[in-house]
Amino acid sequence: MSSTQAVNKPFRAIDVIRRKRDGGELSQYEIESLVNAYTSGDIPDYQVSAWLMAVVLRGMTRAETAVLTDAMLHSGEVLDLSSLDAKKVDKHSTGGVGDKTSLVLAPLAAAAGLAVPMISGRGLGHTGGTLDKLEAIPGFNVNLPVAQFRRVLETCGCAMIGQTAEIAPADRKLYALRDVTGTVESPYLICASIMSKKLAEGIDALVLDVKTGSGAFMKNESDATFLAELMVETGERMGKKVVALITDMDQPLGNMIGNALEVVEALEILRGAGPEDLRQLCLELAGWMLHSGGAASSLAAGRKQSEELIASGKALDRFRQMVELQGGDPRAIDDPARLPRAQHSMKVFSARNGYLASLQCEQIGNACVILGGGRERKEDSVDPTVGIVLHKKVGDKVSSGEPTATIHYNAEPCALRSKQLLEESFQISDSLLSEKRPLIHRVIGRTDGGSGDKI
Ligand code: URA
Repeated sequence: MSSTQAVNKPFRAIDVIRRKRDGGELSQYEIESLVNAYTSGDIPDYQVSAWLMAVVLRGMTRAETAVLTDAMLHSGEVLDLSSLDAKKVDKHSTGGVGDKTSLVLAPLAAAAGLAVPMISGRGLGHTGGTLDKLEAIPGFNVNLPVAQFRRVLETCGCAMIGQTAEIAPADRKLYALRDVTGTVESPYLICASIMSKKLAEGIDALVLDVKTGSGAFMKNESDATFLAELMVETGERMGKKVVALITDMDQPLGNMIGNALEVVEALEILRGAGPEDLRQLCLELAGWMLHSGGAASSLAAGRKQSEELIASGKALDRFRQMVELQGGDPRAIDDPARLPRAQHSMKVFSARNGYLASLQCEQIGNACVILGGGRERKEDSVDPTVGIVLHKKVGDKVSSGEPTATIHYNAEPCALRSKQLLEESFQISDSLLSEKRPLIHRVIGRTDGGSGDKI
């Protein structure tokens, strides 16, 4: 990190952009000044966009990443939840397609006696966002002021909001800008974005779901591992228990992609049904949450307890309670037909016989964005009703003329573009794949001597 000399120089955004463009290392003063000036509206989007792109292309040192995370964390309030007896635990994903696990995990961990003060994001690039999904529930408010967020948390053990003007405001602005400027795919920016929000929550432990594969921001395992290690190191430096699971995102998680559709599928899991890959991942992440929060003595015990909390309906009860406390219509939880629906649907058919060898997962995410399920510009609003339901997953047998997916849409030109992307993304082979990718690739974090499970 460069010397304190720079501290005495007046801050100019252009100097910081140029220095990063040319591969230099920024000082603490430069990074803090940039974050503070952007948060308070003193420098424009176009300068910060240029700086973000320079970071994507040139990278950051560990020291710069730590300073950026701290500056973003302290751009707002850091919650003090020490008055709550329960251990505070959260989970965050680096972003995927069809990843609705947060909607299951927050109420599930709360039902196990933990407190989950979850601050989430909106859709980013081709990936979906928890906030957009929650807003598909009529009336659900993700913009609670801190005092109300606390009240919901104290009452039902979980609360789910977005970055606000009070908590992680720098991430709120930077996240929205990265979404539309092609500047998401940087491990340093992802680490600072995720960890600043999570550290602002006042949690004791954090479970990270770091995605890898064609639908992830980190396409290969070594990049995902690098990001996981960076985030675990950042959390541990701040005295938190952090574990990161590298999980598969080479095809969408579950069968439904799109905001209201994903709420429907999360509710299926909370009712003890739903697709097996989604259920497995939810149980694994919940197991780690319960274990790292001390509600279960081992990962296996955490998984088992999670299954019981689903089977007994207690996790679903928590979700319904949270929805009601956050202004949502609880009737939509018991009757998903009350969730908003698209006006039309269109099927995509297989052109040949064979086996589904692979799915271009990022393309599928983009196919949903094109329908209106995500944003192409900052000011775009998201259509909660649109999306895609997959009828085939990797390894499945398909026959010529059989439907592989259904598109739910409101505008036909968008549906036709989306259909083309979907057709291109289904790769069909003559023979069955010899090996399926595992759902959980590896776990990164400290080991817990007691249980033998890593944490
Ligand atoms: N999730 C976040 O919160 N931030 C990122 O940058 C990526 C995923």
